Amino acid sequence: MQDAAETIARIRAHPRFRAALEVLAAEHERTVEDTIRLTEIPSPPFQEAARASAYLEMLRAHGLAEVEQDAVGNVMGRRRGSGNGRTVVVAAHLDTVFPEGTDVRVRRQGTKLFAPGIGDDTRSLAVNLAFLRAMDAAGIVTRCDLLFLGDVGEEGLGDLRGVRHFFQEGRHRDRIDAFFTVDSPEVDRIVTGGVGSKRFRVVFRGPGGHSFGAFGLVNPAYAMARASLALAGLAAPGAPKTTHCVSVLGGGTSVNAIPNAVWMEVDLRSESAAELARLEGEFLDGVAAAVAAENAARSTREGAVTVEIAPIGDRPAGATPRDSTMAQLAAAAVAAEGYIPVFESSSTDANIPMSLGIPALRIGSGGRGGRAHSLEEWIDVEKGECLRGMAASLATILAVAGFEA
Ligand SMILES: [Zn+2]
Repeated sequence: MQDAAETIARIRAHPRFRAALEVLAAEHERTVEDTIRLTEIPSPPFQEAARASAYLEMLRAHGLAEVEQDAVGNVMGRRRGSGNGRTVVVAAHLDTVFPEGTDVRVRRQGTKLFAPGIGDDTRSLAVNLAFLRAMDAAGIVTRCDLLFLGDVGEEGLGDLRGVRHFFQEGRHRDRIDAFFTVDSPEVDRIVTGGVGSKRFRVVFRGPGGHSFGAFGLVNPAYAMARASLALAGLAAPGAPKTTHCVSVLGGGTSVNAIPNAVWMEVDLRSESAAELARLEGEFLDGVAAAVAAENAARSTREGAVTVEIAPIGDRPAGATPRDSTMAQLAAAAVAAEGYIPVFESSSTDANIPMSLGIPALRIGSGGRGGRAHSLEEWIDVEKGECLRGMAASLATILAVAGFEA
C-alpha cells in the first residue's frame, strides 16, 4: 500500500505528468466535443459498425501503430513503449444498450449533457483519446506498449463477445500483462471483482389437452413451477455474493387448456466461479428432478413432459485481488485526487481477463454521471471534476504500464 502511494506520488510530481494534465485541461472542450460526436453515432447491440469505423479513424489520426479492426468488430491501435512488447490494454466499449431508432442527440444544459449511452460508455472512448494526446504532447514514455481498444458487445446479450474474442482468438492475446476497461465516469468505484453469470431459457413441453376433459395428464406448467421452487430453495451465500432469479416467463395458449409448452428465463450469478458452477449444477439437477416428479405425479399416456435448456448468457467470474499491485495503484491514484476509493464487484469487460488470471480493473473516465441504461442518461462535464478523475485514471494506467521517469 505504501509502495503504491509512493509510486503514484512520484508520477504525479513528475514534470511530464504535470504537462500531460495541462494538455488535458487545455483540451477539455475538445474531449467534450469528441464525446458528443461519438454519442450521436448510434451503436445498438450487435450494430456497432458505424461507431467502430469512426473510432478506428480517430485512433489512426492519433498516430497509433497497427490500427486495425478484428473479425468481431473491435477496433484498436498500439502506442509503443520502450520495452519488449508486453502490453497493457486500455479499453472502452463501443456498444450501448439502446435499440436502433433511439434518439441519441445530445442535449446540453450548462455542464450537464443528456443522451442515451453518453456516460456508459461513450465518454470513455473520447477520454482515452485525450489520454493519448496528453501523453504524446508531454513526451511520456511507458515500458509496456499501450493497446487502445474500442470493443463491441459489452452490454446485455452481447455477452462480452468483443473482449472474449480478443482474449480467445485475437493476435495480441499472449502478450497482455494487464487490462483496464475505462467504463462510466465515476472514479472512486474501482471494480476488482467480475461477477460471473449464466443465463438459460428453459422450455417445458407436454402433450397438452383440455383442462377439464383431459385432466390427469402431465402439465408442463407444474413441472416449471417445481423447477422454480427448486431454484428458490438453493443456497445463495452473501459472500461471495451469489444470486438466482426466475426472471421472464411465458407459455400456454388458453385458460381452459393444459399448456403444451411453457418457458422461463433464469439468471444465475456469483462473484465466485466455483459457487457459480455449483449453482448451475444444482439448478440443472433441480430441473431434471422437477420433470421426473411431474411425469410421476400424473399420466404420461399422451406423452411425457420434456425439457430443453438453452444457454443465453455466459460471463465468467473472476477477480483481481484487492491487495494486488494493480488494485493498490488504482486506489492510491484515486485517493491522491481526494476521492475515497471503494473496491466493488460488477460485470464488465474486465471479467474475461480476470477469469484468465490476467490483472484487470474497471476504472472511471472522470466527472459525474447517472441514469445509465435509461433514456435520461446524463454526464456532468464540469471541468474541475473531470480533470481530477482523468488525472486519477491516467496516473493508474501509467503506474501499471511502467512510467519512464
Ligand atoms: Zn459500460
